[in-house]
Amino acid sequence: MKKILSTIILAFLIMSPVVQAQFNIHVVGAEGGFNSDNLSSYLLQHQDHPAQFLALDAGSLAPGIQKLIQNNHYSFLEAGNIEFQVNEFIRNHIISYFISHSHLDHLSGMIIHSPELLFVGKTPLIGTPKTIKEIQDHIFNSVIWADFFQLGFFSPVAISPANNFFTPLGETGLIGRTFTLPHSGHHSSALLVGKDERFVIYLGDMGADSIEESHLVENLWSEITPYIQKNQLAAIMIEVSFANCRKEQNLFGHLTPNLLFEELNVIKNKTSLSALQKIKIFITHIKPEPNACGIEHHSAKALIIKEIKELNKNWQLDIVIPEQGQVYSI
Ligand SMILES: [Zn+2]
Ligand SMILES: [Zn+2]
Repeated sequence: MKKILSTIILAFLIMSPVVQAQFNIHVVGAEGGFNSDNLSSYLLQHQDHPAQFLALDAGSLAPGIQKLIQNNHYSFLEAGNIEFQVNEFIRNHIISYFISHSHLDHLSGMIIHSPELLFVGKTPLIGTPKTIKEIQDHIFNSVIWADFFQLGFFSPVAISPANNFFTPLGETGLIGRTFTLPHSGHHSSALLVGKDERFVIYLGDMGADSIEESHLVENLWSEITPYIQKNQLAAIMIEVSFANCRKEQNLFGHLTPNLLFEELNVIKNKTSLSALQKIKIFITHIKPEPNACGIEHHSAKALIIKEIKELNKNWQLDIVIPEQGQVYSI
């Protein structure tokens, strides 16, 4: 009996190997508004390169990096005052940027810090061709800000969503594909990024297909279904900006907890609940408001988290509400 039992356990272990964490996500900025020092920015770090980071958006940089330094995450930095260390980190350790779309809350940190990249060499700025063009035409245009492409501080790396193959992402050792997302008439995008058959999908701002009258999100879920089925997708980083009470016409291309679960249901129908339960789901871009749903002194962030927890009761998904200054292994 014992032997049969151990054979069954062994067979089970072989069938569902425990996947070791290969990546860390460092939260530089976790929200989608209100606090200008905590806007969307995540650093992706692969275990093979502990001192090299790919920024996934760069809404705010210095305040979150300062917190991460103070939380003792970067022992590789030379001792010095905090300004020196933050500057050193931005110059030498964020080796590439992916910008999901050209809205300010996703790139203002990168813009503000770009002069500090003097003599660093060309830092790859990765995005869809449309995002790269918008940054060139409207920000690095020698009017709003200097032309940091022309000056050689950044090298644009345009990856078309039409490419159904992976592109190497600068010196990061990572590969990526982009996807277009609907965002209330604005262009937004997602990046499927990874290495050694382990991937993360980072989604920029997005509305639900049902509201945006699009098939873009469903197309994206179809494209990543094989990675979920093969247990290769470690994390989905997706936005929820507003609480469920928000009227459809006031969503401006964003998700609510109900719409998030509507989208998760699409993935579940293409894969399975158990496959989805193995993926860490990071909720990004919550917009803190003081008076949620018109109720005075009613924190929108607390309400959104409560609504997500309530919806997740029947699903038991591994949902993470990331906090600035924290690091999550995936
Ligand atoms: Zn946006
Ligand atoms: Zn945004």
